[in-house]
Amino acid sequence: MKVSPEILNMTPYKAGKPISETQREFGLKTVYKLASNENPLGPSPKALAAVRAALDRQHLYPDPSAYDLLSVLQRVWKIPRENLSLGNGSDEIIDLLCRIYCEPHDSVLTSQAAFQAYQVSADANRLRLRQTPLTPDWRFDLKAMADHFLSHPEQNIRLIFVANPNNPTGTYNTRAELEEFFARVGGRDDVLLVFDEAYNEFVRADDYASTMEYFGKVSNLVVLRTFSKTYGLAGFRVGGLVAPTSVIDLYNRVRKPFNVNDLAQVAAAAAVEDHEFIDKSRRIAWDGVDYFSKELTRLGLKFLPSQGNFVLFDTERDSLKVYEALLRKGIILRPVLNYQLPRHLRMSTGLPEENRAAVKALEEVLPTIPKLS
Ligand SMILES: *Cc1c(COP(=O)(O)O)cnc(C)c1O
Repeated sequence: MKVSPEILNMTPYKAGKPISETQREFGLKTVYKLASNENPLGPSPKALAAVRAALDRQHLYPDPSAYDLLSVLQRVWKIPRENLSLGNGSDEIIDLLCRIYCEPHDSVLTSQAAFQAYQVSADANRLRLRQTPLTPDWRFDLKAMADHFLSHPEQNIRLIFVANPNNPTGTYNTRAELEEFFARVGGRDDVLLVFDEAYNEFVRADDYASTMEYFGKVSNLVVLRTFSKTYGLAGFRVGGLVAPTSVIDLYNRVRKPFNVNDLAQVAAAAAVEDHEFIDKSRRIAWDGVDYFSKELTRLGLKFLPSQGNFVLFDTERDSLKVYEALLRKGIILRPVLNYQLPRHLRMSTGLPEENRAAVKALEEVLPTIPKLS
């Protein structure tokens, strides 16, 4: 069978290693997974209660319009319902935007070291992913991205993906950078500016702005949010799409009517207003990032200042060797070779005892692995 080269050449996505698999392979009882930026507190308790109460109606199809969840989001996000839709995780939204707006061999633009879903969706939709270099401090170079877009009309760039903050780097772009970017490529009708704000709730930098503030003012702006991180609902798969009505209209035609299941809708609706849990989630992430920053400094390892619930650090070694040695001690971190970073590991924030165990294990394994020059 003939298969297009973009699909044949795809590498399977490597998710964080599951806890159960690590326990089996290494005969370990206690394993901590700090590999997928999940919420160490578990799901929002309000979401869990709502899910339990909805279990006995699961013989019914979900509401394809997600009326109740969109009502909550409209109120909390202060965005009109006609500008909202949902995906089976923001992953699905990224993929469907590619499918809707690009013909095979068109391009999508992002940065080096951008969240991997953009590459996966570009490949699966037979698109070219164009990437501009990071700034010297490993941030998206929005100026270079606007330059690239404006100087390469022949590439048919239809979507520009900006993860703010980005994963796996944890770095972010400032309000001033966003405004300059919008001044140059905002308002166009030949490209969508897609801002992926999965870590928005964790940001502490005071020169950060969510692009939600610019929605309605920048006509080609699209914002993605997720329920997988702060709200602790990664397993339910819910992502939010904020977009102009023309985009929402097409998106709602292309998505599967039941892409977000009923339990996921119920969970998300309860979680967005579980303020106590949101505050707790942010605090645990901040404490974790501060602790890792302090300890990595003590260990003499370079890391990127993070606005997310994870820290990317340079092991100065073959990261896979460090990763393997940590697995044997029951600590799962995340290699980032798929981002062309063979020396770095990404460490998600966990509960305090998980964070301490991770640092202790790291301190033990580092001297056993030769440094690269
Ligand atoms: C985790 C993450 C998401 C969330 O993906 P879901 O499909 O909603 O779980 C989106 N964007 C970035 C940059 C992420 O790191």
